[in-house]
Order: sequence, then C-alpha cells, then structure tokens
Amino acid sequence: GRGSRAADRTVDSVCPYCGVGCQITYHVRNDEIAFVSGRNGPANENRLCVKGRFGFDYVRSPQRLTRPLIRKEGAPKTDAVTAIDPRNPWTHFREATWEEALDLAARGLREIRDRDGRRALAGFGSAKCSNEEAYLFQKLVRTGFGSNNVDHCTRLCHASSVAALMEGIGTGAVTAPFNEALNADVVIVIGANPTVNHPVAATYFKQAAKRGTKLVVMDPRKQNGLARYASHYLQFKPGTDVAMLNAIMHVIVAEGLYDTQYVQAHTDGFEQLEAHLASFTPEAMEPVCGIPAATLREVARLFARAERAMVFWGMGVSQHVHGTDNARCLISLVMMCGHVGRPGTGLHPLRGQNNVQGASDAGLIPMVFPDYHSVKDPNYRAMLESLWGTQLDPEPGLTVVEIIDAIHAGKIKGMYIMGENPAMSDPDASHAREALAELEHLVVQDIFLTETAMYADVVLPASAWPEKDGTVTNTNRQVQMGRKALPLPGDARPDWWIIQEIARRIGLPWHYTGPADVFAEMTLAMPSLANITWERLMRESAVTYPCPAPDQPGQGVVFTDGVFPTPDGRAKLVPADIVPPAEQPDADFPWILTTGRTLEHWHTGAMTRRAASLDALEPEAFVTVNSKDLRRLGLKAGDRVRVSTRRGVIELMARQDNSVPEGVLFIPFCFVEAAANVLTNPQLDPYGKIPEFKFCAARLEPLEVP
Ligand code: SF4
Repeated sequence: GRGSRAADRTVDSVCPYCGVGCQITYHVRNDEIAFVSGRNGPANENRLCVKGRFGFDYVRSPQRLTRPLIRKEGAPKTDAVTAIDPRNPWTHFREATWEEALDLAARGLREIRDRDGRRALAGFGSAKCSNEEAYLFQKLVRTGFGSNNVDHCTRLCHASSVAALMEGIGTGAVTAPFNEALNADVVIVIGANPTVNHPVAATYFKQAAKRGTKLVVMDPRKQNGLARYASHYLQFKPGTDVAMLNAIMHVIVAEGLYDTQYVQAHTDGFEQLEAHLASFTPEAMEPVCGIPAATLREVARLFARAERAMVFWGMGVSQHVHGTDNARCLISLVMMCGHVGRPGTGLHPLRGQNNVQGASDAGLIPMVFPDYHSVKDPNYRAMLESLWGTQLDPEPGLTVVEIIDAIHAGKIKGMYIMGENPAMSDPDASHAREALAELEHLVVQDIFLTETAMYADVVLPASAWPEKDGTVTNTNRQVQMGRKALPLPGDARPDWWIIQEIARRIGLPWHYTGPADVFAEMTLAMPSLANITWERLMRESAVTYPCPAPDQPGQGVVFTDGVFPTPDGRAKLVPADIVPPAEQPDADFPWILTTGRTLEHWHTGAMTRRAASLDALEPEAFVTVNSKDLRRLGLKAGDRVRVSTRRGVIELMARQDNSVPEGVLFIPFCFVEAAANVLTNPQLDPYGKIPEFKFCAARLEPLEVP
C-alpha cells in the first residue's frame, strides 16, 4: 500500500549525472532513497530522464568503499584491471585506519616532491565533484605540490571548444541557456546526441521544433531521437566538419547574407575569413563531406536569414585533432550572422558532466587559475598569492594525456586522483594503465574501487553525491545547491575533509570548517561568482552567473551589448583549414571507429553499472554495425565480434543499428569487459590538447564460436 513507498523526509538537490542539471527531490525512507522526483528547476521544469529517476541505487551498492585501503606489500600492479575483482579486493589490498592511510598517502607525495621537485607530482580532479571540492583540489596541487599539473576530464570533452571560445569571444561558457531554443527560429545541433546525453535539454529542442522552430541536425550518425523532429538532417562523413561548415559560410558570404553591421561593429578578422572561404564552394565540398551542394546552400540561407538562431554542439565537434578548428567555424558562423546576445540566439557547447562547467571555472585546468586567468597573468597571480599566502608557479602545467606520457618518460612519479577514472576514460587505455602501474606512488579517492583505484597504493573512501552538501554549475551557467540526504556508509568521509587532511599532512595550514567556508573563499578568488552566496543558494537553489545584483536570478543571455571579454572587446573570427583525422582507414584497418555514450550508462560506468535498473536496461558491451555491413560479413545481430586497432583488441556483441553508416562502427566507452578506449587514438588537437575519440581506423572480425 501507500506505506511501502511513503518517505519519512524529502531533500531537494540536483541530479548527479549530466550537465543539464535537473533539480530533484530525494524521497528518503529509513536513510535510503525510496524514489526521486523532478523539481521545478530552471533547467528542467520538473522533467527528468531515466538516469535522474532511476540511477541512484549505486549509492548503496555492496561495492561501495567503506574503509581506507592500502596495497599489500608486493601486490603486483601490472594488469590490475584484469587481476583484481572489485568485489574481492583482498588479494591486493588490506583495510587501514584513516590515520595510517592518510599518513601513508601524504608521505609518499611529500617524499617525491622533496626528492624530485614539484613538477614530479600531478593531480586529476573530477567534474563529478562539487565546486568546493574542485577548488580545494586545485589549490592543494598548486600550493602543496607546487606546480600547475592539475587537470580533469574537461580535457577529454570540451577542451577544444573552450580553446576556440576563449580565443574567439574571451570566455569558455555558453552565451545563452539551452531553453532559449524555444525562442529561436532556427536551431543547429551538430556533433551531439542530446536525446541520449542531455535528455532533458533534448525535450526543449523537440518542443521548439513542434512549435515551428526549424531544427537542423548535423551528425555522421543518424540518431533516431532528434531525426524525427529535424527539418534538415545532414549526415556528413566523419571528420569533415570544417569542409561542411566552411561551405555553409561560403554561401552566406558569397550571397551577402551576413550581418554587415554586426560584423563591422563587433568582430575582427572578417576580411581574412572571407578570403579564406572563397575556395570552399558547396560544389567543391560536396564530395568531401558527402552533403549535396543544394542542401548546404539551403541550410546556409535558412540560418543566415533567421531572425534568431542558435548553435548547440557536443563531443562530435570537439573530440578531433581538428576539434578547435571545428568550434572556430561554429563561432564564425554565429558571429557573421549576428546571432548572439539576443533571446533565441547564441553559442552553446553542451557540457557533459554535471559539474564540468563548475570544475573548470574553479580552476581544475593546468594553464589557468580559477575563472580562467592564465597562470602567466602576473596581476591575477599576485592577487591569488596574497589570498592563498604562498608563491605560485607561473608555468602552465601538463594536461591529462601529457601527464600519462610524462609518467612513461619518468618525469612524473606520484599522483593524487580524485573521482576520475583514466584507466577507462583515457585514449589508448592500455598505455594509460601501464603509466598508472609505473607510478611510484598513487593515491586514489573515490566511492568505488574503480579500474584506476586498482593501481593505487592508498585508496581513500569518499562521499557519493547524495551524502554531501555542495554546489555544481550546469551547462547553462546555473550554480545550483546539492544537499545531503543520506549518511555516509561505514568509514567513508566527505571529499573536502579528505583533501584537507592530505593538505595538512603535506604542510599546508588549512582549517576549513566545511563547504560553505570554502565557497566563501571562492567568491574572493572568482569575480564570476559576484552576488552569489552559499546562503542564497541554500534558499533559492539556483543562481545564474554573471549575476548583477543579490536580488536578481542572474543573466542567461550574455553579450547583449556586443562587447566581449577579449582584449579589445571584439569577437575574433579565425579561419580554419581542413585537417584530416590523424589516422585514416587502410587495408589492415578498413573501418572508421567512433566512440561515445549510451542513454543508460554514464561515462566509464562506475556509477551506472552499479545501478541495478540502468544496468539491466543496457547490460552488455556492444558495437553498432550497419545492417548492410553485417549481411556482407555473414553476421547477424547479437553475434560476437572482435574489434581491433593499432592499439588494442576487444571482443563484444554486434548490434544491428543503421544509425551508423556503412563502414563506421560505434562503441560506448562504459564497458570494462570490452573497454572502447583500449582502441582509441591518443593523438591530440594542438590547441585544446583533446584526443581524437571520434575517429580512428579499426578492423572488425567475426569471432569463432567455440
Ligand atoms: Fe540527470 Fe541529465 Fe537526466 Fe537531467 S537530463 S535527469 S541532469 S542525467
């Protein structure tokens, strides 16, 4: 009856999965989450997707870490992922007290710093942690380790978009929230699959299309979700974004459809761009990108003539060696049409993780301090040095993939990893795992014995999202309050407390009393948080930055005056040339492999594969293959296959799915038993240092059934 589901209390919070940032209410009974409902937040208006509704039982998984663990004397690190069963870690680890574990964790880091120098250490923070935890973590690395070797998974998702946005408009965040799609006449969604990765944002795109907004979707995979609502679906050839976008801009310039006034008043570089675009005629680009010239012209006219138009993009744009160039094209496209700074216009990179915007703002980036101030900027550095009471390194640190390479080169010997799982998420995962095994000292702080924690010397059991207070910032720049609903299991501790205990043991005089205290310091270091306080967020749950006054909700659409935070206040248009993917299919590896996520599973699966209903919906590793390809190979749906690249081999089930064109394979990267990233190419975009997850050469073979 009613009693079995009735809650004894409710707690308002935010969903821990994607960057949409849906507000939720936990309905708690006997300190367990009985169920979750959607709340009327600015990003979701009561809506939730399957993850936000059913994805919380990971919190009470029997695999939760509840005691600190220390690696047993002599337990081998090589091949830890295959050697260790996370349900029975006692082959390699023993339990320890917090005193022993923290002392050992900090001593190892301190000894390496004092012996090999401050650049011999590095830290990975996490976009799954709160703003306060991200801020503390980067402060620990910069002031305690003494270098800027701190990064997180933004490097693997939108680093190239941020590089292009910083260069083009002086900020890495969106210019308008995704709900503005409802006010747009035309919406372009490129290289993103929002029905899967930003499901509630996708509901706004669908709603807009139903009301008459023209929805133009551009993606090498034909996603069924948005395709039904699209007025135009451009299924271009993988890796040819620049060719297609330049052709569209060519038409806009050649036919004089751009906004002359806006271009003159607010941008630099148009003449060079115009000259550059001359050769990119739709006819010349049609064979390159596979989209008919007539369609390119039609879309160009539609976008340029619209009163209000927006562009949304995702990892399909950013995860390429030409990811920054792709984003540059989108910025130029929007700017030349003056589609920014008004309702229903703007540039919106759909941020992936629940707190990737906030973790980046808080400074979990090796080349910038909090609020994106370059570490080379002497003025901001001096301000931070006085706030933090210590000297700071003026040299940019290393990025995620560079840190892995520096371990192999013997330059980095110790690491502290909080809530990240590079053993699954890094490209060429075997190479990353070998690096983790090579580390002299590895401290991992997490809620599960992740594949990365399996390489650790010390594992520190941390808090899950429903077990702590903290703020997170979603893709719309909305800073939101997450509240504690559950007690911590066993001896697990809040992340801020663990970071502080490590900090003290490596010599930092920290005495924060909790997240509110940390947030107060953040507002001193980060002008972007002006007029946003902990108390306000406790009361109002969400405030958008920038926020002009303590009684205002914050500014959704920015750059209304056409002034950008660049040195001269103008946006910069940067031409982009065609740079082919780093690895092309050939006789040995004739397929194109692309990777991504599924609706049910989140990233490396650490949480969702331990959430019973989600794992039941999508329990097995698969590769999607076009039906024509399957038939040609004499295979049928469900057959097991082997997929290999120059970097590795995995075996998994073939799923018939015509969203991929012939010759293209898609594998989600959440399955440890067939880890897609064992296959991917670690080649980097030169500006954003993001690897090319969306394109490499692969081979597919039927697996002999024994
Ligand atoms: Fe959570 Fe994103 Fe789903 Fe909203 S759309 S419920 S934030 S996973």
